[in-house]
Order: sequence, then structure tokens, then C-alpha cells
Amino acid sequence: MPEQTNPFEIARQQLHAVADKLKLSAAMKSFLAEPEALHVFTVPFARDDGRIEVVTGIRAQHSFARGPAKGGIRFHPDVGIDEVKALSMWMTWKCAVVDIPYGGGKGGLTVDYKALSQGEKERLTRAFARRLTKVIGPDFDIPAPDVNTGPQEMMWIADEYGHFVGHPEPAVITGKPVDCGGSLGRGSATGRGLVFCVERYFENHGISLKGKTVAVQGFGNAGQYAARLIAGLGASVVAISDSRGGIFNDKGISVGAAIDHKTRTGQVAGLPGRAISNAELLELDVDILIPAALENQITGSNADKVKARLIAEAANGPTTPEADQILFAKGVTVIPDILANAGGVTVSYFEWVQNRQRYYWTEEDVNSRLREIMRRSLDQVERMAAEHKCPWREAAYLLAVARVAGALRVTRDL
Ligand code: GLU
Repeated sequence: MPEQTNPFEIARQQLHAVADKLKLSAAMKSFLAEPEALHVFTVPFARDDGRIEVVTGIRAQHSFARGPAKGGIRFHPDVGIDEVKALSMWMTWKCAVVDIPYGGGKGGLTVDYKALSQGEKERLTRAFARRLTKVIGPDFDIPAPDVNTGPQEMMWIADEYGHFVGHPEPAVITGKPVDCGGSLGRGSATGRGLVFCVERYFENHGISLKGKTVAVQGFGNAGQYAARLIAGLGASVVAISDSRGGIFNDKGISVGAAIDHKTRTGQVAGLPGRAISNAELLELDVDILIPAALENQITGSNADKVKARLIAEAANGPTTPEADQILFAKGVTVIPDILANAGGVTVSYFEWVQNRQRYYWTEEDVNSRLREIMRRSLDQVERMAAEHKCPWREAAYLLAVARVAGALRVTRDL
């Protein structure tokens, strides 16, 4: 049988894997296995040559059990309903693992966004935002950046929402530019949170990070900050890649220079070192592997060839369940996405709190509160994994699903 790669089927499988251990009722299982709401929009926008193009926009709200739905919006040609539903479910667990008061949501546009001009990007994002305004809100569903979206897109959406409600409402979305109500430290938060996790893991095991080798697949926001910050702790980043391919340099890559090069040329190719493919990067003989690109990268076909002893997932859903089993049997620890990349949504939460209080924190405050949450969460997941002798992903699910189900039992009698 070919391996399951539909992210929504995978997400359901992961939920079902812990449902019995947690003694979830049949009603609870069915309720959690689907988003509470799903919105699909047709979004027309004008190209620069005057043609009108129509693309699909999606917003899935998986859970409101612990608070408003929360999660990013991605613009990518592969965005589809099942992917967005899966990502929204993963957001529910992610917010529960780090224990912030949100449910899960996710959205996206099926479009080759990178190929659009700046004007086209603005028209499309604003057109999508006008549809979204009816289903989001600071107390209901709060979007954020994800693949190919950032502060500029968040501001266009906040602006449309402000026009819709008749006043500025920065708390409707997070990941905004700092000048428009964004939080200091939000840009680096996903990478920083991941590195806090890795740092804590090494501390718990009494090992030094100094000189440990690292490969990072994907060099977008999360990958860049993760690489930079882990190098700052003395680890050696020996491989990086983006969608067009990667670079391996056993003497260590200067991450600052690599970020400059990527910003200037749009790719990592051309940096000093040996050109490698994304597939080769995953199989390098390194200590730590950081998948920071898209779903389904480590699968039943290549998991056996992974040599890293620690995988910290910056991407959402990079490892399939089949790969998880193989890695667990080999003794590889996977710090799962819903823990490792939760720093982004944690600082989104801080941004939302600051917006609502109209009182802004220093970057030191943001980073130290983030550190505290990531270290505490990592410890809880590690303890759970030791107790149940199970993979860390399952441990994180046991923690998260129990929290969400606990809230639902009280409110909905499920
Ligand atoms: N898109 C990010 C994630 O997958 C951030 C979500 C947020 O900040 O709400 O966690």
C-alpha cells in the first residue's frame, strides 16, 4: 500500500493514535476529527495586464474549545482544503501544548504568490481579506503569517478589517509590522522557540551544543532564525537549502552571510560549499536536523537513511507517521512541530495581549517569557514521553489532546 501523505488523514491518524489511551468517547473523537467550521471563498483579483484571475481562499477553524481560533495563512500553489484542515488541527494541539488560551485555525490561498508583482500581491491579499473579515475577529479567529506571508500581508488584512468594523483593530491579526502594532521579537519567534527547545534538550541530557553539526532544510523565516540562533550557541550549521536546492560545507556555513546572500539573490545556491539536493540534505551525517520547509519530507522511504540523532521540526508536518515509527525504532528523538515551532504562535499571543492592553513590552521581556514557556513545555513533553515510553510526538499529543478534551467535557458534555 502506498504511504499516506494526505496531511488531513495523517492528522486524524495522529489523533486516533492517542484517543484510546486518553479514553476519549466516540463523540469526542468525531468532534475533534473535523474542524468546527470551514470557509471556502472564490477570490477574484486584477492582474497587472487587466485580466481578472480567480483563486481559491480557505479558512478552517478546527477548535474554539480553549479560546478563539488561531493560526497562520499561507499562500502557495499546493494549498488545498485537506492541507488547511490538517494545519488547523495541528494549531489546536500546538496552542494546547504550550498552554496558551486559543483553539486552532489555518488559512490559505492556492496561488503562486511569489510570481506576482507587488501590486498584484496587494490586490489579492486585500480581496481575500475582505472575504475573511466576516469570519475572523479578535475574539473569534486571529490569523497570522505562515508560508510566503509576513508583516506586509498581515497589515493589508488588518487594514481591510479596520475598514470593515469602522475602527483600527490591531488584535484581529498577529505578525504585523512593529510600527503597526506588531510585537518586538515576533519575526524571530519561531526559530528562537525552536532553539530554546533544542538548548533545553541538550541541557536535560547533560550534553554541550558546542560543535554539534546542524542541517537546516528550508531557508525562510523559521529556518533562517533557527540557523542563526543555534550557530550563536556554538553549533556548526553545515548545510542549508531552499526550494531550489542546498549547500553543504563541512567547515560550517556563515549564517549571517548566507542570509545576506539569500536576501540578495533569492536562493542559497552560489554560497561556498558543495551543491546538494533537498533529499541529500535530510540524509547528511549531522547531529541535528531541522526540517523548516513543507510537509511530508521525512517519509517511509527515507527515514531509515536519516543519520541525525535529533530532529527539531520547524515546519508543520514534515514527518509522516511511517517515518515516525522508523525513527523511534532507531532511537532518533523528534521534537515535534506542535512543540518545536510553537514559539511563533506563543509570541503571537504576546502580540495580541499587548494589542488589547495597548501596552507594549520590550524585546527582552518577550524573549524571556518565550524562553520560560518553551522550556516548561519541552520538559512536560519529555517527561510524558519517558512515562509512556513513546515518541515525543505522541507524548505532545497526549498532553495537548487531554487539555482540549478536558475543556470540551466541561462545556459540551462530549
Ligand atoms: N503559522 C505559524 C504556525 O504554524 C504561526 C501561527 C500564529 O502565530 O498564529 O504556528
